[in-house]
Formats: sequence, structure tokens, C-alpha cells
Amino acid sequence: MYDVIIVGGGPAGLTAAIYCGRANLKTLVLEPELEGGQMAMTMEIANYPGANEDDTGMDLAMRMGKQARTFGAEFARASVESLTLDGEDKVLATTDGEYRARAVIAATGSRPHTLGIPGEEKFVSRGISYCATCDGAFYQTGDVYVIGGGNSAVEEALYLSGLGAKVHIVHRRDQLRAEAYLADLALKDENIEILWNTELKEVIGDVTADGLVLYNNKEDKSYTVKKDDKPLGIFIYVGARPRTEFLADVLELDNGYVPVDAEQRTAVPGLFAAGDIVAKKFRQVINACGEGCTAAMAVALDHVREQK
Ligand code: NAP
Repeated sequence: MYDVIIVGGGPAGLTAAIYCGRANLKTLVLEPELEGGQMAMTMEIANYPGANEDDTGMDLAMRMGKQARTFGAEFARASVESLTLDGEDKVLATTDGEYRARAVIAATGSRPHTLGIPGEEKFVSRGISYCATCDGAFYQTGDVYVIGGGNSAVEEALYLSGLGAKVHIVHRRDQLRAEAYLADLALKDENIEILWNTELKEVIGDVTADGLVLYNNKEDKSYTVKKDDKPLGIFIYVGARPRTEFLADVLELDNGYVPVDAEQRTAVPGLFAAGDIVAKKFRQVINACGEGCTAAMAVALDHVREQK
């Protein structure tokens, strides 16, 4: 029995763990994968206050995890399958058995959105990737197509260009969604070409991806790009979906996202949410951390009230 279980070890969960640990709460973090979540998949965290210039997302995640352990948080490698309520207790069914706690902070983040086009599923890890940090090195001497126009697509396009690849950003509109600073860098980068008003319709090949069918929606014209003697990589960054399936039985979700109040409380007493799964407008590492902190302080406050 824990005072609090934090589901998810991304920036929101790790910050919550630091604060819960410091509040002397018996704290457990459940995370099936490497700590850091989506943050750990990015090579540069340039806008996190105080981050070193050469910090990767993984560096920051490792430091956050170390800090949480210093303050007594425990960690277990487990994926949560469901959450049920037993009176005021929360019961989590996981791949590592059952865990119980008085409070739960859900901070499970998101997973990359897929395009659902022909060839996408077939060529994952065979030319298609959702993580430039993980797979970019395979294509550093080749041509890469980055699909999407948001912060993730543009950041990762810049990273791939820095590795030496010739980058083609494929964006369905005539304007990037990414913040101005990143958009300017991409527009000025001679290694990056932007294919405006263009959509990826199909990935073709035999064992590995060796061609793309693109569609220019302004000219209503489809064309095929074939792989030459250089590696061909396709990186898809078209947004993300929240990992909230395990909450669906106890909470009413808003298009998959969790509605919370100003203390990160959900509609279920003792159940909190923080980070990218929260229904909100802006998704940044810094506000994920802030929400993890707020949720942890609210849990600590409830704990003190319960002890009285
Ligand atoms: P996003 O901001 O939602 O952008 C998704 C991009 O993919 C958009 O350009 C969108 O086009 C495009 N797209 C969506 N569905 C598509 C489809 N079916 N076919 C073709 N294109 C499609 O997602 P994100 O870039 O992954 O970012 C997620 C959140 O994390 C955002 O809040 C972002 O600000 C944040 N983030 C921040 C940073 C940072 O601050 N450094 C870095 C990464 C992510 P349209 O523009 O036409 O809608």
C-alpha cells in the first residue's frame, strides 16, 4: 500500500515523484519503458529553463529520475492495464501484478499519432520511424522525409539536417505550425527543403521502404519519389494521442484527454492527472513539470488532512 502511485515516468511523473518524496509520502513510480517519456526522445531541450546547451532530453530525464530516488521515491517497471476504486483506495492492475495506493497521479503522456496510410505499418523500423533521436543515424548520408509541420517535426528535421541528411519536410499546408524560432531555423537551413501543401499518401517497397507517393493538394497532383543509392528514411511527426485507456472506466474523458481543476484533481477524489494527458492547450516539458509539482502538493495536502 503506497500513499501515492505515479503512473508514468516522463517529466510530469518524475517531478511529482520528487515532490512526493520530499513530502515524505510513500511513493511509487510505475513506468514500463525508459524514464523520460517523449522528452527522452528529443536531442535538444533548448527551451527548458536552466538546461545546459548540450543537454539531451535523456540527460534531463536521468537527472530528474536520480533526484526523485534521492528523495525516496521507489520505481517499478510495469505497465498499468486498469484502475479501479475500492472505497477511497485506488487499485492498479499492472503487468507486474496489483498495486494499491490512497492517491494516484496519472502522468502517462502520449504516443505518436500514425497517418493510417498504406505501407505505414508494414515499413515501421524498415524505413519509417517516429523517433529521429533513435533512428536518425541510419539515414545521415541519405534522404529523409519528415511528415508534419509542428514543433516536433521541425525540431527533428533540424536534428536530422545536423546529422548530414538531406531533409524534406512534407507539410499539408502552406505555413508551419511550429513556433517562429524553430520555423525560421528550418526555413534558413540549406539542407532542408519544405514541400508545401503536400501529403504523404503511401509508402511503397518490398522488404524496406523504397518510395513514397506524395500528393500536392494545391495542384491536385500525385507523384512518386523513388529511393536512389542513398538510404531513405521517413519520420512521422503528426501529433500525439494521450495514453489514457486505463482511466476510461473511472473518468469521463474529453476526446481522450483528462479534465482537471487548478490543483490537477480529476472528477475522482484522490486521482490526479499531469502532463500531456491533461485537456489543455499547450504541451511543453515545463508545464508538464509544473503540473506534476501541483498534483504532488495537492496529494501531500490531502495526506496531512487525512492524518489529522
Ligand atoms: P502538433 O503541434 O499537433 O503538430 C502536428 C503537425 O502534424 C501539424 O503540423 C499538423 O498539420 C500535422 N498533421 C496532423 N495530422 C496530420 C495528417 N493526418 N496528415 C498530415 N499532417 C498532419 O504535434 P507535435 O509537433 O507532435 O507537438 C505536440 C505538442 O508538443 C505541441 O503542443 C507542441 O507545441 C509540443 N512540443 C513542443 C516542443 C518544444 O517546445 N520545443 C517540441 C515538441 C513538441 P496542421 O499544422 O495542418 O494542423
